[in-house]
Amino acid sequence: MDRKFIEKLGLSLPRLGYGCMRFPVKDDKIDFEYARKLINYAYENGINYFDTAYNYHGGESETFLGKVLTEYKRESYFLTSKLPVWKVKEEGDAEKLFNEQLRKCNTKYFDFYLLHSLHKESIETVEKFNLYDFILKKKMEGKIKYIGFSFHDNNEVLQKFAAAHKWDFIQLQINYWDWVENDAKSLYETLENLNIPCFVMEPVRGGFLASFAPHAMKRFTDFHPDKSIASWALRWVASLPNVALILSGMSTMEQLKDNIDTFTDIEPITDEEQKVIDEVIEDLREINPIPCTGCRYCMDCEYGVDIPGVFGIYNDYKRSENKDMAKRNYFTFMSEKRQGGNCQKCLECMQKCPQHIDIPLELEKIHKEMLALKTP
Ligand code: SF4
Ligand code: SF4
Repeated sequence: MDRKFIEKLGLSLPRLGYGCMRFPVKDDKIDFEYARKLINYAYENGINYFDTAYNYHGGESETFLGKVLTEYKRESYFLTSKLPVWKVKEEGDAEKLFNEQLRKCNTKYFDFYLLHSLHKESIETVEKFNLYDFILKKKMEGKIKYIGFSFHDNNEVLQKFAAAHKWDFIQLQINYWDWVENDAKSLYETLENLNIPCFVMEPVRGGFLASFAPHAMKRFTDFHPDKSIASWALRWVASLPNVALILSGMSTMEQLKDNIDTFTDIEPITDEEQKVIDEVIEDLREINPIPCTGCRYCMDCEYGVDIPGVFGIYNDYKRSENKDMAKRNYFTFMSEKRQGGNCQKCLECMQKCPQHIDIPLELEKIHKEMLALKTP
């Protein structure tokens, strides 16, 4: 496993971190023995960065790590968790949540700690309850070593919030698809300009960039017959100079071994390989059942529906035909409020869409199709 020295933090991190939101499951619970084998194998092969959060696996991920990581010396690995900002409703909540997380993770401190999944609205909660001051205080007390936040909104919001406080790192969704399709490039450049290390989540976009339309995948396998489709996405992200760490949520030993292989003596993407990636992006663009460009003119929906988010998940599903990924992205990572089923058909968004998409109708159709995926 390659490592990278992060000058701003003064430490060396593995290039690949273990995202702890997609462990194998059995009977709706983490498959303890299999997941433990994965953690042990990862650790023994140089992955000593573990990224969990309050809500991963319905709260089970933190408890699981609290049990399995005790096999190792605490200072030999990095443990990261995140404050569920959406659960902070009154003064004192952040303290209670933080203490609960320490207890569940069986640790006295977190190496890295983030305000989880920030966007315009949740930033209002951060400011209202002074959550930046809260995590800074924990850092002063030695209960956190490095503070940051993960982010899901546009560049204007990021620029303002990133510059408003002093951050050790920021976690963004970066991959070759979002780079061009969802302006991840601007987000990345904002961190570069502010000299803040970028930690990357979803480098394979929830599995989409690991398996998609066969004719597009063929371009990759023709070029590198012995390399996985996911390895292209991981190497692409690793080629960005301000990327300090890349997270991947690995569910099987096969994925874990393949990723370790990718991050051992990793080579940056060449110009020739970039041309192949550009062709794949073009192929995938042509599969576009909902012509949503992600411009967000329709937002915000008064009822909280994440219109471009729903359309993005649906389009990814159609490009990949990956049902598990679609179910996970729609039902696990998207609250009910943000799903298509919450559309109240007020029609407010309709006239704002430059693509003239019949938004309520499409949301209804997609929601039905997603529900059907749940029935065996
Ligand atoms: S029609 Fe549906 S999605 Fe559009 S603004 Fe109204 S509730 Fe939101
Ligand atoms: S306005 Fe239309 S194209 Fe733009 S994000 Fe909304 S649905 Fe997509």
